[in-house]
Amino acid sequence: MAFSRRNFLKYAAMSAGGAAIADTPFFSARARAEAEGGDVKYVPTSCEMCFWKCGAIAKVKDGKVVKLEGNPLHPQSLGKLCARGQAGIGQLYDPDRLKKPMIRTGERGDGKYKEVSWEEALSYTAEKLKEVMAKHGPESVAMMSHGSPGDYFTHLLKALGTGNIAFPSFAQCKGIRDAGWEITFGHKPATSCERVDMRNSRVIVLFGTHLGENMHNSQNQEFAEAVGNGCKIICVDPRYSTAASKSFLWLPIKPGTDTALLLTWINLIISRELYDKAYVEQYTVGFDKLKEAVAQYTPEWCAKETDLPEADIIAAAEELGRYAPNVVVHPGRHLAWYGNDAQRVRAMAIINAILGTWGRKGGMWLPPKGKFPSFSDGAPKYPDPAKAPLIKGDYPFAGGEGLTQVVREAAISGTPYPIKALVIAGTDLLKALPAPELTRKAINNLDFMVAIDIMPAETVMMADVILPECTYLERHDGLFKVESREAGVGIRQPAVEPMYDTKPAWWIASELCKKMGKPEFAVKDSWEARMKRQAEAWGVNYAELADKGYVSLPNSAAPYITPDNQPEFPTDSEKIELFSAALEEHNFDPIPKYEPTEQPGEGMYRLVYGRSPVHTFSRTVNSPFLWELQKENELWLNKKEADRLGVKNGQRIRLENQDKVVSSPMRVKATERIRHDCVYMVHGFGHNSPRLSKAHGSGADDQELITQYKVDPITGGTGMRVNFVKILKEA
Ligand code: SF4
Repeated sequence: MAFSRRNFLKYAAMSAGGAAIADTPFFSARARAEAEGGDVKYVPTSCEMCFWKCGAIAKVKDGKVVKLEGNPLHPQSLGKLCARGQAGIGQLYDPDRLKKPMIRTGERGDGKYKEVSWEEALSYTAEKLKEVMAKHGPESVAMMSHGSPGDYFTHLLKALGTGNIAFPSFAQCKGIRDAGWEITFGHKPATSCERVDMRNSRVIVLFGTHLGENMHNSQNQEFAEAVGNGCKIICVDPRYSTAASKSFLWLPIKPGTDTALLLTWINLIISRELYDKAYVEQYTVGFDKLKEAVAQYTPEWCAKETDLPEADIIAAAEELGRYAPNVVVHPGRHLAWYGNDAQRVRAMAIINAILGTWGRKGGMWLPPKGKFPSFSDGAPKYPDPAKAPLIKGDYPFAGGEGLTQVVREAAISGTPYPIKALVIAGTDLLKALPAPELTRKAINNLDFMVAIDIMPAETVMMADVILPECTYLERHDGLFKVESREAGVGIRQPAVEPMYDTKPAWWIASELCKKMGKPEFAVKDSWEARMKRQAEAWGVNYAELADKGYVSLPNSAAPYITPDNQPEFPTDSEKIELFSAALEEHNFDPIPKYEPTEQPGEGMYRLVYGRSPVHTFSRTVNSPFLWELQKENELWLNKKEADRLGVKNGQRIRLENQDKVVSSPMRVKATERIRHDCVYMVHGFGHNSPRLSKAHGSGADDQELITQYKVDPITGGTGMRVNFVKILKEA
């Protein structure tokens, strides 16, 4: 139902807070259901079709979820859901879901399982974990996870005495970005969402960030607003993406040379005095050293290195300077590209710093004021791990989210100590980590693997035990901290009872705590009871939160710098570090330097991958509605290259990479919208699991072609755009 003025007034009048009718969004689940009458209820919850956690409202009629829509109160949905969010019903009612606990009976990976009771599955899991721990120590148990279940199994593993917990979202995605910004500003550029004040920006620069295809709800709504407001978009991308189609300037850069462009812009902005002098003086350290270091990066040199017109390089820097500080070089999200990525991210952060964008309108908003009190619900302190976790490897700026490839390596080599059991929750590792053959090898070396998931993806179907989780529409989770321009709290609560014999992840982890002899770490009663205690500890009215789906913390919004609202930079110098003493201490360049990246050889193209607006990585390809919208991916190939190779638009081809790995067939999209030296495909297709009846065999898998990766020496992030492919015309 749309929030018409008439309905708005009707609900508002019926609610307890109805006296405060104003032009602010309004939502009350109770009032709305009462207004509609009949056997209808509305359940505010948080979407989990991706990690953005938009506020969603489930309409339930006759015991079935019939519609999902965006919560107007929630800052990450702003009253709307993306296509994936609306298709959450498809996931709920997908007949391919995991329906019962299963124990493997055949060879690993051959798909043979027996269905068992929860009691048998959990007892067997606990017995196997105990065996591994007794033989190899608790540290030999590791976890890799994505999304909400990770929190519960992190708790379990820490209770067992292991810190080997790693999330692909760090090394394979945003860890490099977070580390680069933390080194510079002392802050990550995002918590639940990026702190980019796009709706007020005059110029937005996007480096490979394909907003519109990379569909993060509120961010895309703000981007559309910015475009509508006449904001100038500068899009640096070898591909004419959806965002590029809205741009004032498209810079089709030679892949691998972005740092050359960034350092040249820094030089231009400084040498032409386009930077914010007062801001630099007040809030930064190392400006003179930066100025000296970047003087070598001239526009003439940059034009040759990046294959961009010199005039465009200069024009972009001038636009940034003209409208500063109401501009932003967007920090992006997936930045694990070439193996020297932290320094590229540093260069992005430094441009924002000298243009004075942090804490300025149209730039980056400041973190909201106030902290949520910590809440442990009386759980005891975790035991100290018997052996130091491996998860940071030899990378001094690797974050606490851990390096998946380091855990994988220990499972293969057994050094510095072996990983022999793995818990995977909500992640298809074969689609998330580079070099999937190494992932298979690591899994085959394990004594035991347990998977907690909703769908029978390929990695899940290699587990010894599969524990079926219910979907987000069938469970309590959270409460969720939401940090946008203000701090707030979101909630996840069930719209319907769990279907089949599935359970919430909190329950599975809690039962395993008990079976592993750690009942003191188990949930005391129910998760909802715990959520109520947490709300109380945070000073939030639970009943109001459950009715509205989101509440903001009063007086927490302070997005811009004012005389009374000064930014804090928790770096060593307590300023923005243009020159990083911390990097220098670890023998890294304290100011970014340009390092050329290997380019494709004769007949080869760099493999570039990205996102679809209707799919979340590989997780939603089987979702009935979303599969209808996009059933397979296609290969973007430059039209002239296609003509030269004699490949027609729509023709099926295969790709072969530098290590002779050959992809499944996929159709060619011959287009002027991509450079001649790279090809592009959407990530997440080409599923091998026959239990995914729709996704199985649809499209091609980019991950199988990513056999090589280059590790960023600062953070341990795995640069994955270092693979080259040729076209095989015989499909
Ligand atoms: Fe759901 Fe879309 Fe929001 Fe992600 S961006 S949480 S899929 S509505």
